Amino acid sequence: MKRKKRLLTILSLALVCAIVLGGFLFMRTGHQQQSTSSTNDSAKTKTLTDLPKGVKSTDWDLVLVNKWHPLSSEMNFEKATVGGITVNARIKQAVLDFQNGARAAGYQTNLISGYRSIQYQKEVFENVKRNNIAQGMTDAEAEKATAAVVQNPGSSEHHTGLAVDMAGSDAFEKYPNLEANMDQFASQQWLIKHAADYGFVLRYPKEKSQIKQTGIDYESWHFRYVGVENAKYMVKHHLTLEAYVKALKEAGR
Ligand SMILES: [Zn+2]
Repeated sequence: MKRKKRLLTILSLALVCAIVLGGFLFMRTGHQQQSTSSTNDSAKTKTLTDLPKGVKSTDWDLVLVNKWHPLSSEMNFEKATVGGITVNARIKQAVLDFQNGARAAGYQTNLISGYRSIQYQKEVFENVKRNNIAQGMTDAEAEKATAAVVQNPGSSEHHTGLAVDMAGSDAFEKYPNLEANMDQFASQQWLIKHAADYGFVLRYPKEKSQIKQTGIDYESWHFRYVGVENAKYMVKHHLTLEAYVKALKEAGR
């Protein structure tokens, strides 16, 4: 009898422990979930409340071109050349300043690509597709394989004249076909780190959630002009152009 009583006591003690521990774990999990969601909420609210004054989603330097927002016809704007590369005339000085800044820091840079017309993109696309067909692919296979490496005509940001492919000369020498690994070079790291000072953002970051937003894999060489104020804000809040434009629209801008 005594033994049975002791067994009962031990059992009930164990039960109490299990309940307390279970409750503790439950509260902890609940608390974690709550703190996570409140972090997200505050980030969202913060984004919405301190947006730069006077900035609108329709501003010329925030034009969004991606696979979900393709252009149906060529954009009309004044063009200028920098080192033989065509860009939107409005960003010529910013490109020069960006390159001069890098030079002053000890890095030579190569401007590789700027404005591309939709027509030109069509030709590039067709050429690659023709090659794929010549390699034995069906039309559908060739189309798919081409779209994986070449932007569909109309959906390349280079159509805006506001995007440049730029690399440290040493990085470009090692990776003439432009590869993410160019960011191993101090020159490329400098460009990425200081882009916002000249009004540029690294347009296609490497974070998975951001790749989902841009629809394009990490490109350590593709810089997009958005203006100094926007660029600094986007860097500070860790925003892609997609997320920034969305926040502006949600704020009625
Ligand atoms: Zn590019």
